[in-house]
Amino acid sequence: MEVFINRCTSYDECYEVVEDAFEELGGISNFVKDGETILVNPNLLKGSSPDKAVVTHPDFIIAVVRVLEKKDVDIIVGDSPAGRMTEKKLEDQYEKSGWKKIESETNARLNYDVGSTKRDISTGSTKKTFDILSLVEEVDGIINLPKLKTHSLTVFTGAVKNKYGLVHGLTKAAYHGQFTRLNQFGKMLLDVNEAVDTRLTVMDGIIGMEGDGPSGGEPVELDCVIASEDPLAVDYAACKLTGIPPQKVPTILEMEFDFEEIEYLNRHPNSFERDIDYPSGGSTPYRVPNILTGLFANFYLDRPELNEEKCIKCWECQEACPKDAITGKSYGPKISWWKCIRCYCCAETCPEEALKP
Ligand code: SF4
Ligand code: SF4
Repeated sequence: MEVFINRCTSYDECYEVVEDAFEELGGISNFVKDGETILVNPNLLKGSSPDKAVVTHPDFIIAVVRVLEKKDVDIIVGDSPAGRMTEKKLEDQYEKSGWKKIESETNARLNYDVGSTKRDISTGSTKKTFDILSLVEEVDGIINLPKLKTHSLTVFTGAVKNKYGLVHGLTKAAYHGQFTRLNQFGKMLLDVNEAVDTRLTVMDGIIGMEGDGPSGGEPVELDCVIASEDPLAVDYAACKLTGIPPQKVPTILEMEFDFEEIEYLNRHPNSFERDIDYPSGGSTPYRVPNILTGLFANFYLDRPELNEEKCIKCWECQEACPKDAITGKSYGPKISWWKCIRCYCCAETCPEEALKP
């Protein structure tokens, strides 16, 4: 499996590096053909200014779209953000994330289709059917554009986890509630990865996120673009590059994959010598019997913390919580110790960063 990595220190210069990635991995014709409709799937966790590194940077998306436009293709840019998915919310989040310029600077369209459909996967180890965006059924192929970020639950969020964004709206939170143990959740993400095929992953690692990602961390200059046909190989390379131990990431741990087989094109991840601050992760400790985690988890695990001054009492967190663990109080949301499974869907949904993982 080939993984392309190269240094890129600015979004102004990323077109050349992205173009190189396509070339070195076999050329544009390897991934798209004339007459096709292609979904470009960046990370739109929530509406957030690009300099906060929560979403895939719009200039990075534009660079990829411009490379794809060398072919005669119809391009749709879309993702399902945290929480409920509505046209109005998408409009607002595109605006806040600076994605509107994608439509003015390229021929690509932003997605406003909020429909869902079923996708069967007979080999799924956790589920045989997933609720995904109906958009996925309407396109010929998908190009995956994750952001390189840490994640309070899964330690790292990259290419495989980005495909979870193709699961429809609040269903993402519901699956969190269904798979509360980290190893189960990792297996479920791998099932989604298999159920929804992507042709190429190009990761935005120019400015990534460290600390309490995927929305509450700090932007960090990582100066890299990573690309491969295999999303898992991209994630492994990103972990190596940032100093995150791959064995801490549930999708990497649960997958049978010989990472020694990876052939790095251009640069090796070790050449970046970059160590970032990453969270310990986990809603429940790994492989500890259920009975023990159930009895003792609340004594040692963190929960989201409310910053009352930031809270605007919109109650999006309450709607996103898969365990009904949030009650509305005059000061804002109150989280039940006993119901909370530490999935952080509430923090991911909060438009004001009022819930800190
Ligand atoms: S914590 Fe965030 S999502 Fe929840 S009510 Fe306050 S502002 Fe809204
Ligand atoms: S309150 Fe707990 S269970 Fe509910 S969304 Fe937040 S972290 Fe998840």
